[in-house]
Amino acid sequence: MRQSEMLVPTLREAPAEADAAGHRWLLRSGMIRQLAAGIYSYLPLGRRILLNVERIVREEMDRAGCQEVLLPIMQPAELWEESGRYTQYGPELMRLKDRHAREFALGPTHEEVVTALARDEVSSYRKLPFTLYQIGTKFRDERRPRFGLLRGREFIMKDAYSFASDWEELDRTYQAMNTAYSRILERCGLDYIRVEADAGTIGGQGETHEFMALADVGEDTIVTCKYCGYAANLEKADYQTSGDIEKKEGSLEVPADSASADSVLQTDQHSGAENVVRISTPGVRTIAELTTFVGKGAEHMIKTLLYVADGQLVAALVRGDRELNDIALKQVLGAEELILADDAAIAAHPNLKVGFLGPIGLNLPMVVDADVAVMKSAITGANELDEHVSGVRPGIDFALERVERIRFAAEGDACPTCGSPLIFTKGIEVGHIFKLGTKYSDAMGASFLDRNGRQCAPVMGCYGIGVSRLMAAIAEQYAGDEGIRWPAAVAPYDVHLITVSWKDEQQRQLTLQLEQQLIDGGYTVLVDDRDERPGVKFKDAELIGLPVQIVIGRGAAEGQVELGSHALAASGESKRIGLTAQEAVLYVKEQLTS
Ligand code: ATP
Ligand code: MG
Repeated sequence: MRQSEMLVPTLREAPAEADAAGHRWLLRSGMIRQLAAGIYSYLPLGRRILLNVERIVREEMDRAGCQEVLLPIMQPAELWEESGRYTQYGPELMRLKDRHAREFALGPTHEEVVTALARDEVSSYRKLPFTLYQIGTKFRDERRPRFGLLRGREFIMKDAYSFASDWEELDRTYQAMNTAYSRILERCGLDYIRVEADAGTIGGQGETHEFMALADVGEDTIVTCKYCGYAANLEKADYQTSGDIEKKEGSLEVPADSASADSVLQTDQHSGAENVVRISTPGVRTIAELTTFVGKGAEHMIKTLLYVADGQLVAALVRGDRELNDIALKQVLGAEELILADDAAIAAHPNLKVGFLGPIGLNLPMVVDADVAVMKSAITGANELDEHVSGVRPGIDFALERVERIRFAAEGDACPTCGSPLIFTKGIEVGHIFKLGTKYSDAMGASFLDRNGRQCAPVMGCYGIGVSRLMAAIAEQYAGDEGIRWPAAVAPYDVHLITVSWKDEQQRQLTLQLEQQLIDGGYTVLVDDRDERPGVKFKDAELIGLPVQIVIGRGAAEGQVELGSHALAASGESKRIGLTAQEAVLYVKEQLTS
């Protein structure tokens, strides 16, 4: 391909909106352009990278025995109503109407469509198991589209859905997908880790794992143990703690009079006990402010957080240096809906002094984290404006009605498997595999007759990998000082021939000869034949970041070329001068056969 004929609008500066290194280089190297927030065009070079990633994904899906299909993006709302997700999915689901005012959704994922297909077309165990996959455009109206292709509103995903007669059959497919995903990420050259994940909103009945590409811009926190290999998403991570004592079960009955604004605080406050000392803390509302004010670490404090669980105000207590896990709290409460109490919810109780809340005398249902229950003496709010109390003994100065594990794992916590300290890192979720069970087959009435003529629901699995997100994750991991150094497996071309002066007959002839030899060898070649200064050409070549660069300059008169490649740069030899074209071709072979 001649670069002079190609649309490669490189930029000297990244647009202000670019918020991650990989994203900045993708824009600067002229590979993508933003059309609207989270919506991108792939220019010729970017499209080639995307196609390479797609090819790897497709090859591995086919190798795992999956069948490729293409399912509609535009889907009738009724289908989504059948699964119950039309309302549940919320504003992330893009909705539209046709000319007859019929409602449609743009598919963010395709469980509904594929389950309807199985319901209509599969009725016997003889057809099971099978896995369908597709590679295509997904729409999600993300609240915060960011980092370019990493979190888009329109993006490319490979999604696969498996149907099995029973859980054992599903397990075999799950393992096959697990292997396929590992192979995809290895072939893409990504540094990644597989972690246990939380079932979250997809709400399946079985296990689920995420594949995380390691990167600082990653929005997920990965919790790992380097001794035993335990790895989990923070949302799911388990830990051992000194607070792992026998839980004291208690009821969570609402005090009879709690509806009245004045009764949230008990009049009989225990703060009169000798050990409990009031501290005047004017304007000190946060744990950070309190640690500075009293000169003690957050581990000596108790945070009192207010939540509204299914319309009822609830207090949750965690140690000052820990983060409350709202998923865990929601589970513990068995609540359908759990939200942090907002000003309006609190305003109904004028006695609640936000910033100065504490458990003593608080007449609300209270869930106490296991770590708080074992504190010997703590500092906490006094339920009076501008006051805190110290010397508070959980279980003595306030009742431990309900002790539960309601916090996230923290760095340094003991590994749940081996007790070694847990480590935190950041990751980009690139893939997700999930045992759905019969959630969708039940909801949508898909069934088959088993060996014994009994009607059963197929046991499903779903498996997603972000194709465009993979491209962005590679960009992130391979971002250097001058551009992205694309791994050979996904690079838009294998070799960049940079001809210093295209007008020079000898240089041009040698370039054409080399190009032909490389193409005959099965390599893809980009030729910089532009009428530009050498400096501009070299800079653009770094931006484009092909695996091997060959410079055809003055040496052409003697049949000599110069080499540049990522491998050479890494070994400190940035350029090797004076190779014959023949030697250069051998070098390309060496570099690109792995
Ligand atoms: P996230 O937590 O990052 O929003 P998710 O859990 O919503 O991801 P899934 O529903 O499991 O993602 O989708 C499967 C895969 O699709 C993800 O692993 C990811 O690679 C990709 N993906 C999801 N949302 C986006 C997006 N907004 N932009 C690009 N890729 C995405
Ligand atoms: Mg999401």
